[in-house]
Amino acid sequence: MSTPLSIYVLVDALGWDLVKRAPFLDEVLTDRRWLVTILGYSSGAIPTLLTGKTPAEHGHWNLFYHAPGQSPFRWMRPLAKLPEGLVENKFTRRAIKHVSRRLSGYTGYFSIHSYPIAHLPLYDMTEKRDIYQPGGLDAPSLFDDLERRGITWECYNYHAHTDAQILALAPERARTTDARVLFLYLSGLDHYLHFNIHDEAGVAKQLAWYEAGLRGVWDAARQSGRDVRMFVFSDHGMTPIRWTYDLPRDIATLGLDAPDDYLAAIDSTMARFWVWNDRARAKLTELLVEHPCGQLLSRAELERLGIWFEDGRYYHMLFLAKPGVLLSPSHMGRIRFAGMHGYHPSEPTADAVLLSNVPVDKAVDHITGVRGVLLEDLGIAPHEAAA
Ligand SMILES: [Zn+2]
Repeated sequence: MSTPLSIYVLVDALGWDLVKRAPFLDEVLTDRRWLVTILGYSSGAIPTLLTGKTPAEHGHWNLFYHAPGQSPFRWMRPLAKLPEGLVENKFTRRAIKHVSRRLSGYTGYFSIHSYPIAHLPLYDMTEKRDIYQPGGLDAPSLFDDLERRGITWECYNYHAHTDAQILALAPERARTTDARVLFLYLSGLDHYLHFNIHDEAGVAKQLAWYEAGLRGVWDAARQSGRDVRMFVFSDHGMTPIRWTYDLPRDIATLGLDAPDDYLAAIDSTMARFWVWNDRARAKLTELLVEHPCGQLLSRAELERLGIWFEDGRYYHMLFLAKPGVLLSPSHMGRIRFAGMHGYHPSEPTADAVLLSNVPVDKAVDHITGVRGVLLEDLGIAPHEAAA
C-alpha cells in the first residue's frame, strides 16, 4: 500500500470574497470555509499559517522593525547623513539593497521599498532566512515538523520559480514523486489583485487560470494511484481601494523632528510610530486619535489581535486606516494600488480561505488553525509537533 500524497497550496491573497462568488475547484475541494486573518501583511500572516501561533508569539510581523544596533544597513550610516538630494535616487537605493543583502547574509524576502535612506540604519529586517525551510522562522513551523518527523516533502515557491513555472512542473511532480508532501506557494494572484481588483473580468480570468492549473495538479496526482489530499489556503484577502490619503502631510505640520523626536514607518494601511519624548507622543496622539481616515489602536485591542510586542520593536503607537483607505504616498512608494490588504481582520474582504477535499474540523476559523489541520493530515498529534 503506497503512502498518501498531501498537496498543500498557499495562494497569496486568495480571499473568501473571491472564492464565494465564482467556482474554484468546487467539485474537488468540497470542504470550504473562510478564515479570519491577522492584522498585518504576508510577512506576519504566512509565519502565522506555518507556525499556528500569533505574531506576538512567533515574533514575525512587519518586514522592518526598530533595531539600530543590528541593522543590516548600519554600514551606510555616513551615507545616511548626506543631504537627501544627493543620495535619494533609484541607483543609490538599488546599490544599498544589493550591498546590504550581501553583507547581512539574509536569504529571506529582502526589499527596502521606499523607506528613507536616512532612516534605514535604524531598522533590522524580520525575514532573515528562507521561511519555506526548516529553521526558517524564529518559531517552529510546519517545515520543522516535516524535518523532525522524517516526512519527505518538495516545496516550490518564488525563490526559484514563477507561478507559471510552478503550475507547469507540479503535475509531473505530483504524478511521479515519492514525497509524502508537495507544498506550493503561489504569489502572483496577490500582485495581480493589487493592481487590477476593480477589473471584474480580469480577476475572473486570473482565478480561472489558477483553478485550471491546480486542477491539473489534482488530476495528475490522482493518476499516481495514491490517496491524494489537497488543501488550498491563503494568508489574507484583498480590499478594493476607494480613496487615498496623504498622512505624511499631516504629520509634517506637527513641528516634530524625525528621527530625533519620533520615527515613522508608513505602510499602505498602517502607520507605525516610535516616540522618543512626551511632546512627540502628545502631538501624534492629538492628530491621530480622532482622525477621519482611521484610528489609533489601544493596547487592549493590539493584545487581542495578537500583535502587541512588549519590547516595542515594531511600534510604540499604531495607526490603522479604515478599510478601503490607502495611505499614499507611503514608505511602500507612490503607487496608487487598486487593492490592498492589511486592514482590520473584521473587514469581510480581509478573510482568507481554507478549501480541502477531506473534512476539516468545523472549529477551525482562523489562520492560526491551519498548521494544526495539516499536522492532523500527517498523523502528528499536537503534543508531537515541533516546539
Ligand atoms: Zn500583497
